Amino acid sequence: MRERQPLQFRNMSDATQHTNIGILQRFRLHGKRALVTGAATGLGAAIAIALAEAGASVACHGNRRAAEQTAETIRSKGGEAVAFSADLSHTASPEALVNHTLEAFGGIDILVNNAGTIIRHEAAEYPLEDWMTVLQVNLTSVFQLSQLVAKGMIERGGGKIVNIASLLSFQGGIRVPAYAASKGGVAQLTKALANEWASKGIQVNAIAPGYMRTENTSALQADETRNRQILERIPAARWGEADDLTGAAVFLSSPASDYITGAILNVDGGWLAR
Ligand code: NAD
Repeated sequence: MRERQPLQFRNMSDATQHTNIGILQRFRLHGKRALVTGAATGLGAAIAIALAEAGASVACHGNRRAAEQTAETIRSKGGEAVAFSADLSHTASPEALVNHTLEAFGGIDILVNNAGTIIRHEAAEYPLEDWMTVLQVNLTSVFQLSQLVAKGMIERGGGKIVNIASLLSFQGGIRVPAYAASKGGVAQLTKALANEWASKGIQVNAIAPGYMRTENTSALQADETRNRQILERIPAARWGEADDLTGAAVFLSSPASDYITGAILNVDGGWLAR
């Protein structure tokens, strides 16, 4: 049997010479301009603040009202942020949102498609209007925003798109057929866009959060039985917090992930591994 040699760099520059910067430097986002949708609350707010902490200028999008509080938090920490509002259930909203961001920053290097909505009904009774709203907000607007932002990224030779998928990109759920269909679509769209744009220097990846403690899951958290069942099944034995997602978001927005594209990174306390 061949003896295994320990992994060794001849010197540190061997490890870093392709970039001439150290590993932690490759997580920095200084000089980058980001747009984060759904940044007024929950996961989107935490992601927007984390990208700013890593050095990016951030456009914080909110639904009915601009995500001004998130932008203010960023500015209070010395970062640069602007806030806009756009109802993404309307097909014209993505273009207006991208135009506002371009006017403010001159370009978009990082797009985080985080905004999402969930409407619960029995599948047999699911109103078409609600189906259309969920599909437009969770999937079609993700395609529209990606398409609009990719034009500038292609011209500049690169960029990062991070989509927020879900456990229901893989599982069907109960009473959420539109949400499951939309998030399954987000996972597939991530791969489709990654394939087409990899050669243009754009990486398109997704994060699949597990059960995170936000507004989105307040009904589940309040339901004693469902809350207990969920906790019993999560190997980490706790709900995720918004900050649990921020390391993955910064990583997938940074040069540290330049050879990763079309991936769906589960941040779920082990749920899908079980
Ligand atoms: P949240 O309700 O706090 O955030 C959702 C955001 O989407 C809000 O800021 C809201 O303004 C925005 N939004 C909703 N409808 C919109 C519309 N019509 N137009 C524009 N923006 C709209 O919940 P969250 O948990 O922070 O959700 C963020 C993302 O994470 C969503 O895509 C959600 O599906 C996904 N997700 C959440 C969990 C979880 O456990 N919380 C799990 C998996 C995936």
